[in-house]
Formats: sequence, structure tokens, C-alpha cells
Amino acid sequence: MSASPATTFAVAEKLRRIGALIGTGPKERYRARAFLRAADALEAYRGNLARLVETEHLTDLPGIGESIAREITQLAKTGTSEWLSKLENERGAEVDAKPRRARKKRPSLGEEGEMLLVDALETSDALIAFMRSNKAVRSVDLVGDAARGKETVQSVDLLATGPDADAIAKRFESSKLVDEIEKKTSPVGTVLVSTLYDGKIATLTIATENGRERALRKLLGPPSRKKLVALEDIRGAVHCHTVYSDGRATLEEMVRAAEKAGLEYITVTDHSPTAFYANGVQIDRLKKQWDEIERVQETTKVRIFRGTESDILRDGSLDYPDDILEKLDVIVASIHNRYRLDRRNMTERVVRALRHPLFKIWGHALGRLLLRRPAIDVDIDFILEVAAEERVAIELNGDPHRLDLPPDVAKKAKRLGIPFVISVDAHSTRDYRHLRTGVMIADRAGLAAKDVLNTLSAEEFAERVRPVAKSSTEKRRHRKAPKSSSKVARLS
Ligand SMILES: [Zn+2]
Ligand SMILES: [Zn+2]
Repeated sequence: MSASPATTFAVAEKLRRIGALIGTGPKERYRARAFLRAADALEAYRGNLARLVETEHLTDLPGIGESIAREITQLAKTGTSEWLSKLENERGAEVDAKPRRARKKRPSLGEEGEMLLVDALETSDALIAFMRSNKAVRSVDLVGDAARGKETVQSVDLLATGPDADAIAKRFESSKLVDEIEKKTSPVGTVLVSTLYDGKIATLTIATENGRERALRKLLGPPSRKKLVALEDIRGAVHCHTVYSDGRATLEEMVRAAEKAGLEYITVTDHSPTAFYANGVQIDRLKKQWDEIERVQETTKVRIFRGTESDILRDGSLDYPDDILEKLDVIVASIHNRYRLDRRNMTERVVRALRHPLFKIWGHALGRLLLRRPAIDVDIDFILEVAAEERVAIELNGDPHRLDLPPDVAKKAKRLGIPFVISVDAHSTRDYRHLRTGVMIADRAGLAAKDVLNTLSAEEFAERVRPVAKSSTEKRRHRKAPKSSSKVARLS
């Protein structure tokens, strides 16, 4: 089997075809989306597909579960799959003949309609801009779960006000995103429930200007407290990948985009060698990257920190030898394989990692992928105690598929005094926008700017995360801490 990118793209294309042929019932639609997401994941993947298939590591890629992995394996090895052939025979001609609009989806507020926060925001941004540009609309706000920063939501909810409710409704109906509309009444005003062409549900509540405050309270919950951390507070992009591992942009491109975004520093944290499916960086290439960082640094005011996203290995050790790790400015350490260890082993694995003297930032801690993969099974309360004791920072990963730590766990961590970074986990220059979702989650967790290390200046940030071993006295003190050491003894 060829391992060329052409093969990868061809397989992705076939996954999309399966997605298109699956059907349009609610169940099928859900399944179809899973195939489209898997196609995205493959297209973003820069490593060696053949190897991934041979070593049965496909499920390490985001969005690829066991059954899709089986399809990919067949497609990669034979160029087609039994299921694809069957679907082509049954529905191929029919689907190709149908014009796009005829394939619109039925309204559904069920589980299948669930969407990621980022997709809800993309739609609400577009609808709000469209509504605002009409003079019948005096105000339009995002309300509901997306406004609250819930990680997944059922519908995009807007509140519009103005003197002429009919004119507002007309404007909404004329949006090219809006397909079917159902009118309802609610205590705060008329509600238009719409199915959009992409299958999402959007609602528009229309109230009078006088009724706006009351409606906002009703639709948004109690008046939101002052935001304690805002997008403008973030000064550095933490956790960036480049083409050295599985990113799509070069270091130079990532730096230019950071300049444009007004960021003061970025941390380059490509994958470590064990993450071979993500094209993990071997030591010789890592050193080449350091040279490149030096070269690009001379062309920019954005401070470039050299780092790694080191795999937390099965036994809790870190990837790369210590003498390499010590030469880095930043280490984000994350779990990328063996997600299904049982609670005892997984807890032990994480605790061992946290105790590593060079461990400073825990990446996408619980390893969940929203709507796709559950969190790892660990004794999180105990782990957070250890993290606090070891003065480890934890990532609030802004990747909309992750949003990890979840806000309720982040709240607990904050109570223990654990610092955070709001990270982008960027695989392209566009991904700096992950800061927006990251900040929303941070806000839900009640974090303030002072809890977030990348609100610090480049120098202060570097000081806080530099991978230097804790002093021996400090270590001794930690070892003696009775509560956790006895528990660790029990665990190991
Ligand atoms: Zn990662
Ligand atoms: Zn990453």
C-alpha cells in the first residue's frame, strides 16, 4: 500500500462519499457527520497513513472510532469498501441526481442536533451581523446555552428587539441560512424556531425594547457577573504545532499570524517522537527546529519559545530524555494513547507524570473529544491535589472539540490554587481563534486573569513554566506530605 498524501486524500474523499450516501434520517445524519469529521481528521493528518493502518493506531486520530477505522483500513488497502460499494449501488445515482436544496434536513431538537459551541458561534456571528444590518432591528444578542459558553448546544438562540416585530421576523426569514420556520409564542415574545440549511436549529425571540432586559434575564440567567478574564487579557499563544509534526503551517507562518493577532509570544510545542502517528519530532529534527526558531526570531518582535508537547507514556514518564527536555522553554505534557486504561492504572500514570520534576503544564488533561470520546477515567480529586502540590499548571484547551478541562473540574482546580494556561492547541494559523472558546470556558469556570499564566508578559510567563527541576528541599517537603504520599503508596 502506498503511503503518499494522495492516498490519504483519496481515502478522505471516499469517507465523504459514504457520508453523502448514508441517508437523511436523524440517525443516518448523525452517522454521516461522523464520516465527514473523520474525513477532516484524515485531511489534517500529516503522518504516515499506511503505518497508522498497519499498527492499528487509526483510533488515535481525533474523530475516528473503531467502526470508521475499519472502513478506513479497507479503503486504504483495497481502494474501496464493501459498504461503500453497497451504498453506491443502492443510492449513488439517486443522490447524484438530487439538487442540493432538495436534500435539506428535517427539524430536530433531539440528541442528533447537538453541535459544538464553535459551530453555534459561527452561525450566531453570521446571523447577528445579518440582523444588525437592518434598521428594523434595534438590538440583537446571543442568548441561551451558547451565550453561557456550554461546550455543546442544541440550538443557536438569539434575542432581537425593535418596535416592529413583523419587520424583524421578515428580516430573519430572508437570511440565506434560514430554511423552515415555525412561529411560537413565549412569555417574553414571539419565538421563531428555524431549521437552517445545514441542519442546525436556530431560534429568534422577538421582544420590545422595553422588554429586552427582562427577556435577557430570562434567556441568559441571572445578570452575568463582571467577566474576570477576557480575550484581550491573553498575551501569548500556548501550544502551537507546525509542519514539523502535524500542523499545517510553518513556524514562520504561525509567527506572522501571531503578530497579526496582536499576540506577544508563542510556544512551539510540536509532538514528541512517541506520537509517531502525528509525525512526532525526533531529536535531530527538534534541534533543526531550534535553529529555525533562532532565525525567525530575528525577524519578529513576537517572542518564540521552544517547547514540546511531550507524550505522557504508558508508565507516566515523559518523552525525550531529560537533558533535551531541560533545554526547552516550555513543556506541555499530554496523553495521546491508551485512553482506556482503568481508573487505578490511569490515575497512577498521571500521578507519576505530575511528580516528574520537569512536568509543568498538563495538556488537554482529560483527553475527551466532545460528542466523540469520553474523558479518561481517573480519580480527579486526588490528581488535582497532587498537581497543586507539584505546582503544575493545567491547560484549558480552547480547541472546540476538546474544551478540556471541563469547567466544573477547572473550578475545583482553581480552588486548590492551580494555575492555568488558556491554550490554542493550534494546528493552523486559523486556530488562534481557539482563544475565544477557551476564554468562554475559563469564564464559566470562574477563572480570573490572575489564574491564567499566559496573561503574563513573556518574561514572567517563561519564568513560571521553565522546566527546571524543583529544588531538592522542596521535593523533600513534598515527599513528606502525608496525605498524598500514603495514597500514592496505595496506588502503586
Ligand atoms: Zn495533544
Ligand atoms: Zn496538541
